[in-house]
Amino acid sequence: MKKIAVITTGGDCPGLNAAIRAVVRTSIYHQVEVVGVIRGYEGLIDGNFMPLYSNSVSNILQRGGTILKTARSERFKTKEGRQNAAEHLRANGVEGIVLIGGDGSFRGINTFLAEHSFPVIGIPKTIDNDIFGTDYAIGYDTALNTVVQAVDKIRDTADSHDRLFFVEVMGRDAGMIAILSGIGSGAEAILIPETTTRVDQIVGILNRGWERKKTSMIVIVAEGDDSGGAYKIAEEVKSRFQQYDTRVSVLGHMQRGGSPTCFDRVLASRFGVAAVEELIKGANGVMVGLINNQITLTSFETVVSTQKQFPLDLMRVAEVLSL
Ligand code: ADP
Repeated sequence: MKKIAVITTGGDCPGLNAAIRAVVRTSIYHQVEVVGVIRGYEGLIDGNFMPLYSNSVSNILQRGGTILKTARSERFKTKEGRQNAAEHLRANGVEGIVLIGGDGSFRGINTFLAEHSFPVIGIPKTIDNDIFGTDYAIGYDTALNTVVQAVDKIRDTADSHDRLFFVEVMGRDAGMIAILSGIGSGAEAILIPETTTRVDQIVGILNRGWERKKTSMIVIVAEGDDSGGAYKIAEEVKSRFQQYDTRVSVLGHMQRGGSPTCFDRVLASRFGVAAVEELIKGANGVMVGLINNQITLTSFETVVSTQKQFPLDLMRVAEVLSL
């Protein structure tokens, strides 16, 4: 293999630059040329490539975002778009791709690979940590730490005023950020899409806290929870529980930004090295992952068709400790 391309697609998250750096440096280490694709699948379709050298990735390990930019692409969902992408890859002499993406990106590349024979290896990234085939995806640990730091600050103000806060965190389909950050910040209740939310149960927990003379209470709400989000559930609870002044805080996009934690930097670095070396060895149509601290390979087909198991036992930990 003489030349490979690296691309970041789908939603952004912290740690993408660390992965790009690792891919570039590992390629150069093995005397393989490397180009970056600008703006995800959009750049692939338009042939928007830039050569990358060792110093192109200097001083980016600690930076959030992605120097290659990322995008969502409607055109990649069309056969014509994918055909253009294949033509640009061949015209540029690219012989393999390292795709840093999430579930959607892997679904997209799976469709592409059904039509075009091309060596592709994936690196998982998502702040929701809901990709099958890896214990951890890039971005998750940083997002968790961002949320916990934010909730700690909210707790300070809640405690000063005897307030009840509903804090909405990211997670349209997955409650991983909510459950871990909830335990990590000592939340009184955690609402996630994986379980049915019962208002009477939440009111029960809050009443118990009030009787115990708690000076503040925090309820973490995953944005995709069936209650309809933090504002909606706060209103419902307020109509049945007025002992505390109630406020809502939606953390939003801050959860996608910031400097990656050391955990995410190391994870991205390990994934980058493994992805390039496996691609050179002939791996194709697979995603690198980390299971029990070992690098693994799982086919895109399996990744996109298998639901990652949610650690529901953590709900019990949260429940016991919220007394
Ligand atoms: P993520 O990779 O972060 O989960 P998205 O779900 O937005 O992000 O997917 C990224 C891109 O992958 C989409 O904008 C689209 O271009 C492509 N994609 C997703 N699903 C498909 C599909 N079934 N067929 C073709 N392309 C797809």
